[in-house]
Amino acid sequence: MTPFPRVPIVPADEDWMRTALELAQRAEEAGEVPVGAVLVRGDERIGQGWNRPIGSHDPTAHAEIVALREAGRRMANYRLVETTLYVTLEPCIMCVGAIMHARIKRLVFGAPDARCGAVASAVHLADADFLNHALQYTGGVLEESCSALLRRFFRQKR
Ligand SMILES: [Zn+2]
Repeated sequence: MTPFPRVPIVPADEDWMRTALELAQRAEEAGEVPVGAVLVRGDERIGQGWNRPIGSHDPTAHAEIVALREAGRRMANYRLVETTLYVTLEPCIMCVGAIMHARIKRLVFGAPDARCGAVASAVHLADADFLNHALQYTGGVLEESCSALLRRFFRQKR
């Protein structure tokens, strides 16, 4: 039984998740929790980011927020419609909030986050009826690779 939809996945999903995994490794190299995100419109990458709150002294510098900011600047638009966000870890409450504000069409995440995941784990924020944006989401894409990266990181930290 899965706590989140694993709707049919388009072939590009795994390719983009591999890109997000590469970005997550950059976070790991900087000593940050390894999470990476890439925002895609059509087959074009319009934003990317990796987790960097410690290095940038910015509590909001999660991979998703960094990617959305870059895309907003590049598109000169605060609405990022018709885009898909790929992220290696299920987003937190802050990031789901930003995703909804940005009107992201579809979210694809890798590893679920049982403790803090705000899509389909700790809370089901993406399905909250007070939010007037319908987000499509899929989880578990390259889940094992995404969670293995996190497990390795926290094992080394101990
Ligand atoms: Zn977040």
